[in-house]
Amino acid sequence: MSLLNPRRLAGPRRFSPLSMFEALATPHGVDRYLELVNPMLTVRELRAEVIAVERPTNDSVRLTLRPTRQWQGFQAGQFVSVSVDINGVRRTRCYSPASSQRRSDGLFELTVKAHPHGLVSQYLHAQARPGMVVGLSQADGTFRLPSPRPDKILLISGGSGITPVMSMLRTLCDEGYRGEIVFLHYAFGPQHVAYLDELQQLAAAHPNVRLALAYTQERSGGDLHGLFQESHLADVAAWYADAHTYLCGPPGLMTAVRAHFEGRDLAERLYTEDFAPAPVAPLNGDVTGATRFGSLATENAGETLLEQAEAAGLSPEHGCRMGICFSCTQVKTSGCVQNIRTGEINSDPDVEVQLCISRAVGDVAINL
Ligand SMILES: Cc1cc2nc3c(=O)[nH]c(=O)nc-3n(C[C@H](O)[C@H](O)[C@H](O)COP(=O)(O)OP(=O)(O)OC[C@H]3O[C@@H](n4cnc5c(N)ncnc54)[C@H](O)[C@@H]3O)c2cc1C
Repeated sequence: MSLLNPRRLAGPRRFSPLSMFEALATPHGVDRYLELVNPMLTVRELRAEVIAVERPTNDSVRLTLRPTRQWQGFQAGQFVSVSVDINGVRRTRCYSPASSQRRSDGLFELTVKAHPHGLVSQYLHAQARPGMVVGLSQADGTFRLPSPRPDKILLISGGSGITPVMSMLRTLCDEGYRGEIVFLHYAFGPQHVAYLDELQQLAAAHPNVRLALAYTQERSGGDLHGLFQESHLADVAAWYADAHTYLCGPPGLMTAVRAHFEGRDLAERLYTEDFAPAPVAPLNGDVTGATRFGSLATENAGETLLEQAEAAGLSPEHGCRMGICFSCTQVKTSGCVQNIRTGEINSDPDVEVQLCISRAVGDVAINL
């Protein structure tokens, strides 16, 4: 640590009008008061205003968002956390911008698929309207194109997983990328392809872009039919072993493509983004003990702490359910937990744990 602490050298601490206002506003923070005037007028918090709303298919909603001045932009493929208040409870979920990172008007676009019983996606599908303001995080994630761009790029998506690779395609087209791109998208049929018109226009306008639509239910139309199989790659991107491949889609597609690349020793050429967590592997040995969430005691059954709390009727705040957005972080006051992604065991008292990727090993107490 440096001994030359600039704060110490600066002499007596001076209070800016903002820091005085913040001290007066404690414990709510200045932004809680400013939002009564205008929710887009924030000092610290990043938010976004919904500028336009479309419903391109029966079960999806497309939002154009204008972020507040704190926004630092994103790289194609990354995700943001979006928060909305539903019945007085703040809910946070991750969404991948689908727009080009080169978009020049400062706006970006999300496309959200409304899951049949999903809380936030159904809410956005039903309630989103221009003027609505949502909470926002800075963009995050390592699912990104490298710089300089590779010579050949294969983009594979399925269903709502189209969004991050759509962003990559739009970005590459805006950059005037000259290498080869194949955009291979899996959907039940043409009415389920979220960006069908634009994909066809981009392929028509850019000779280096090939669009391959694979329909898993419809037998007519499309370029390929059925679930992912090796022959699909041979048909549309025979050079894929030399390319960088970016994959995002439902668990079945992710598993099949991963297995194919691993089987061909090409795993390091495949970059993936999961929208849903992988199933939790069972704990080795017997599951014992009880977890206390505040004053509520529950029996351990080997599931994650988030699932355990929900099974007990609690509704802890959460987002991605896979350890990337940190919105389910709570303090473990005692006991031992295992991180299901790394296998790491933590037995320290009073540490923060992510409920969605931790499970109890014996008795545990969570400050919920
Ligand atoms: C990095 C990342 C990027 C993402 N980007 C996008 C994106 O661009 N577009 C997009 O649409 N999604 C995206 N997602 C998924 C998104 O974050 C949410 O998971 C999704 O919108 C569902 O949230 P929800 O609140 O509607 O569902 P939740 O309420 O959280 O439910 C999750 C799932 O459980 C099911 N479920 C809920 N309750 C029940 C019940 N009682 N019985 C049976 N099933 C139930 C729902 O159908 C849903 O499938 C992304 C996820 C990640 C991790």
